[in-house]
Amino acid sequence: MSVNVAELLAERDRLRRVLWDNGFRRCDVPACNCDSWHPHGGFYARFREIDEAVGDHNGKTLLRAVEEMCAELSDLRAYKERTEAGLHKLSDIASMHGDILDDEMRDLGLWRDPPQAEVQP
Ligand SMILES: [Zn+2]
Repeated sequence: MSVNVAELLAERDRLRRVLWDNGFRRCDVPACNCDSWHPHGGFYARFREIDEAVGDHNGKTLLRAVEEMCAELSDLRAYKERTEAGLHKLSDIASMHGDILDDEMRDLGLWRDPPQAEVQP
């Protein structure tokens, strides 16, 4: 069996481009000296950015923490939409009748308790 050196070098170069294109760089850390590749940028960097932005996730996986944040955001968006709709109705009523008390808002079905996510410190 013969080895085609040119083909092997071409394959090596192709694989190096794959590593490079996916954010890996040749190790240049003297303390590491692993003679391998380290991830820089790309998915790994985005992952670290998300991890840092989320902060402490109290023992939950990062994915779970992000899912919970998205659910809270969704609740808050829905609350904002309900509140804006309520304010619009309230504005119409106030323009016809003057000031409205909280109890009157409850009677009119316009009072909305904030979602749990908003009232927590
Ligand atoms: Zn290294």
